[in-house]
Amino acid sequence: MLFNSLFGLFSNDMGIDLGTANTLIHVKGEGVVLSEPSVVAVHVGTRKVLAVGTEAKQMLGRTPKDIVAIRPMRDGVIADFEIVGEMIRYFIKKVHNRRVLVRPRVVIGIPSGITAVEKRAVKESAEQAGAREIYLIEESIAAAIGANVPIQEPAGNMVVDIGGGTTEASVISLGGMVISNSIRIGGNAFDETLSQYVKKEHGLIIGERTAEEVKIKLGNAYVEKDEPTEIIEIRGRDAASGLPRILKMDNIEIRSCFNDTLNLILDAIKNTLDQTPPELAADIVDRGIVLTGGGSLLKGFPKFISQETGVPVILADNPLQCVVLGTGKFLDEMHRFNHGILRE
Ligand code: ADP
Ligand code: MG
Repeated sequence: MLFNSLFGLFSNDMGIDLGTANTLIHVKGEGVVLSEPSVVAVHVGTRKVLAVGTEAKQMLGRTPKDIVAIRPMRDGVIADFEIVGEMIRYFIKKVHNRRVLVRPRVVIGIPSGITAVEKRAVKESAEQAGAREIYLIEESIAAAIGANVPIQEPAGNMVVDIGGGTTEASVISLGGMVISNSIRIGGNAFDETLSQYVKKEHGLIIGERTAEEVKIKLGNAYVEKDEPTEIIEIRGRDAASGLPRILKMDNIEIRSCFNDTLNLILDAIKNTLDQTPPELAADIVDRGIVLTGGGSLLKGFPKFISQETGVPVILADNPLQCVVLGTGKFLDEMHRFNHGILRE
């Protein structure tokens, strides 16, 4: 008995959110101990990994010709599973090295579009990094648990997770997935749209990181009628002269170029509502749609979705951490959850 409780104390269960944009790790008793971009810098010729995470993201768009910065989880499926393996091992070891971990149990949140081969690759990498038992859990389920949605109840709960490369709209009841639609469009699509727009309309070429910064500072999904105009300076390179230039843009103009992307995300949500059995749909109207994932932090997103669907929308607390908090909570209370949640 005593032995068991001691083990419980030192077991250091680990929850991992392997996102398209960011990887997060939660350690039992400590909380979220790592949050870094899912980026790996690789030498083109040798395929040698030069940097991972924050350090690798800083290299995006700034690398010499023989180094590429890869986002191996892009689009929610594993674009390059060897690199994903390296990334997982690097992050687990980084967390490991600062502690004395006894071969931890690990739960990894994975996108639902992932193939059997990719699942194997994820599991093997975690094993090689020293994990003892490895469980894979669907991201949307983890997001719901992390957002404190009562998924065990016999009622319809809708969670929309807007990540970097994907949006997943799911209806969950009795601990299981009822319906789930995933599209390969997420928060990063706004950055790409913005870059294309600025180039086409203003002849300015901007980098990926600049586009994301502008989106976070002044991007919006819903402009209130009396909203004051705000202006931002965007730095880039003039497409014609090739020289550095500053462009001034306001929030109304930025909103106008987000229309198409917003509508694609909205359609995924509407399709999911459309496929929901009536009793569960009624629950969702009562309970509201819960938004998770960093993409849902775009200003006015909840308002936009509720306006367009007529259903109340709730932004989760701490949207960027819902999945990883969910994996942690799942490990703590595994006995309470439906084992159908776990994937081989
Ligand atoms: P993933 O789970 O795919 O790794 P995340 O949940 O970490 O994705 O969300 C990443 C996305 O959230 C990126 O597109 C990022 O630009 C966006 N994002 C993060 N913070 C904000 C913010 N304050 N406003 C708008 N978008 C944001
Ligand atoms: Mg995610």
